[in-house]
Amino acid sequence: MQNLTVLGSTGSIGTSTLDVVARHPGKFQIVALTANSQADLLFRQCVQFKPRYAVMLDEDAAMQLRERVRAAGLGIEVLSGAAALEQVCVLPETDTVMAAIVGAAGLRPTLAAARAGKKILLANKETLVMAGNVFMDAVHASGSVLLPIDSEHNAIFQALPRGYDGDLAKNGVRRILLTASGGPFRNTPLEELQHVTPEQACAHPNWSMGRKISVDSASMMNKGLEVIEAHWLFNAGADDIQVVVHPQSVIHSLVEYVDGSVLAQLGNPDMRIPIAYGLAWPERIDSGVAPLDLFKVATMDFEAPDLGRFPCLALAYQALRAAGTAPAILNAANEVAVAAFLDKQISFLLIPHVIEAVLDALPVGKVGSLDDVLGADADARRMAQQHIGDLVGARRAMPLLRPNI
Ligand code: NAD
Ligand code: MG
Repeated sequence: MQNLTVLGSTGSIGTSTLDVVARHPGKFQIVALTANSQADLLFRQCVQFKPRYAVMLDEDAAMQLRERVRAAGLGIEVLSGAAALEQVCVLPETDTVMAAIVGAAGLRPTLAAARAGKKILLANKETLVMAGNVFMDAVHASGSVLLPIDSEHNAIFQALPRGYDGDLAKNGVRRILLTASGGPFRNTPLEELQHVTPEQACAHPNWSMGRKISVDSASMMNKGLEVIEAHWLFNAGADDIQVVVHPQSVIHSLVEYVDGSVLAQLGNPDMRIPIAYGLAWPERIDSGVAPLDLFKVATMDFEAPDLGRFPCLALAYQALRAAGTAPAILNAANEVAVAAFLDKQISFLLIPHVIEAVLDALPVGKVGSLDDVLGADADARRMAQQHIGDLVGARRAMPLLRPNI
């Protein structure tokens, strides 16, 4: 029996995780479920999975949930606030933490799990982008088992030698080939990108995901964040990681060896595959995903990424090369810009514009501790907000000249 805390249980990854868990009665026990503010869904999950703890970040939502849990006689302790998210990661009875909160909010609880030596199923890529060295140091110091859930990194993990020790050359690896679908705007004429809506950006051709990562996929910032994620997970340099656009999303990534062999992991685009892999590792269990029908796939295409169309990817490579606090700045500016786009304050094309302005303006510092990361994150958020405020102000002042900011 594996005892599981699921951070972000109401999200896309969280619900897929619980779907896999429900297929294997007797194999997993849920210790804690957590969410931001979706009390209804968390209540239904509490009824089905009977965790010992349920955490809502939002205080009012927690009160609502507490009342319903009491009325239903479930005997579940309902906690609230950011500290409680960390608390349920370090409980002695928790063996494994599924880190599936979206964005920077996932950093502290995921780091707490690493410091406590838990097995971590890492979906929250922002943890590695923001604080890669702090997090990896914690993983190594505590002896945590870290399993990537992001489909590409899970594929790479599967294609690398078992027990890979972080030395690509010693293991005969020439490079990592990180696949990308290209998102919903791969072929959209450039002049139309100016007018795309959040709904269009969130309508991914192959994957069903939360809104933030969907916009990241549309801008290809998601692939940029994943390049940085791969850097920390596999100790690979920027030049060791090649992004390959593969619109069918059937190959989830590949590892190229010095002898010319290229090993890939394939499967239907459904996150329950990497989730089931992480849950059962080193064994395998049913994920509920239909077998891959290669005859139906029939053709697989590959192309080089278009950095002109997708400047976010270039900005991420730039931040990785700059190192230090640069990736944390990139991540924070991106989160603010994506939220402003989803809120219809700025156009899609202004997302990279805001990130670039913030990266150019802020000095890159060293990362010696979590505080360095959080300081850079706060500065970048402030600067991005200010920049967006200026852009919105300029549009109000010149509505006819600049209608599409
Ligand atoms: P989502 O928006 O569907 O769900 C996010 C979850 O986090 C929800 O349960 C929400 O309640 C919770 N949450 C949001 N803000 C919070 C906060 N401030 N404090 C505490 N909890 C909060 O997101 P998702 O698509 O499931 O993605 C989760 C993470 O997994 C992201 O980091 C994403 O990059 C990564 N990921 C997702 C997919 C996917 O297919 N969805 C694939 C690879 C990686
Ligand atoms: Mg991915």
